[in-house]
Amino acid sequence: MSSLYVPPPACLQKPLMVPHRHMFGPGPSNVPPRILEAGAKPVIGHMHPEIFEIMNDIKSGIQYMFQTHNPVTLAVSGTGHAAMECAIFNAVEAGESVLTEVNGIWGERAADMAERIGARVNTVVAPPGGFLTNAEIEQALVKHRPVVFFLAHGESSTGVLRPLAGIGQLCHKYNCLFLVDSVASVGGAPLHMDRQEIDILYTGSQKVLNAPPGTAPISFSERACQKIFNRKTKPVSFNLDLNCLANYWGCDGKPSRVYHHTGPVTAFYSLRESLAVLTEEGLEESWERHHKVAEYFHAELENMGLKLFVKEKKARLPTVTTIVAPHGYDWKEITRYIMKTHNLEISGGLGPSVGLVLRVGLMGCNSTKAKVDMVLAALKDALKNCHENKL
Ligand code: PMP
Repeated sequence: MSSLYVPPPACLQKPLMVPHRHMFGPGPSNVPPRILEAGAKPVIGHMHPEIFEIMNDIKSGIQYMFQTHNPVTLAVSGTGHAAMECAIFNAVEAGESVLTEVNGIWGERAADMAERIGARVNTVVAPPGGFLTNAEIEQALVKHRPVVFFLAHGESSTGVLRPLAGIGQLCHKYNCLFLVDSVASVGGAPLHMDRQEIDILYTGSQKVLNAPPGTAPISFSERACQKIFNRKTKPVSFNLDLNCLANYWGCDGKPSRVYHHTGPVTAFYSLRESLAVLTEEGLEESWERHHKVAEYFHAELENMGLKLFVKEKKARLPTVTTIVAPHGYDWKEITRYIMKTHNLEISGGLGPSVGLVLRVGLMGCNSTKAKVDMVLAALKDALKNCHENKL
């Protein structure tokens, strides 16, 4: 008789089934075969010299994608949230002041993370779909004297691409680090980490890069490293401690790397391949393609009589489009109908935009006019066939 009181689950005796699907929500995006195949290469040790070479290639790719020469540039083993926590947990000590711009969900999440480590957190709030002016940011910097100011370059919950000009300089005028979330924007919209004086920049693998979720590029300026490597207290997270990560990624100039955690090697292969794809196309070419495709998409949506949530054209995120939820329809019925009938994911709002918008993400390989036409056809079909309340 078996000593096991939990029997083998019957579900695991059936083969794994995963549907093919058009991933046109705010992420993850579709992963092209080339990147999937890279991730299927053999597992080797996380401390083997070949992996260190792959990690060095990834580092160069991130430096290109971020437009930075920062030596402390690496990929966190985890998703965008892990990179957010890596940035905040390392750059902030308990009792220090943190300021975040809230114009969607990401500034709220950054504030939540900073609160959890005992920071004094203040937020400056802009209406969803908008963003603060530099003068408003300066006022808040003067008032709260934060050590870190956070904003999301691409606010994927509201569809805003906010301008960055002058903010890094403002932060530095007040001795504050400038922390930027580029999960939804990098590769799809112009961003120059060094020139824009960004101190900490991070993204995720599953959006414009078209790699599977699970790795998160991040980079730290000299100024950020000065603060982080001279902390009085250890960061609360061992897993995200930049001292350890910088060593594992060969960023600290030490002659050898020591074991910190088991790097997800196959995820590194995919990430390297996705950075190779971006490099082959060219960063500026990728920005331009996303811009042109988004312009086409937005014009066609307006031709259909739909309204865009972000009024200012220049502030529309080219990767994630927010469409005002069509009047009289249940947005959930629309997304469900499109999934069922067209095998295509678009999503509703998130955080403050729930119920207000539909979100369509066309990122990386999905940023083409042909994919736009697919989304438009699906939307037209949904508006014809979903229930409309005429009252
Ligand atoms: N920031 C932004 C702007 C995002 O769009 C996302 C993902 N939707 C995240 C952070 C969090 O990333 P992840 O889901 O990979 O943890």
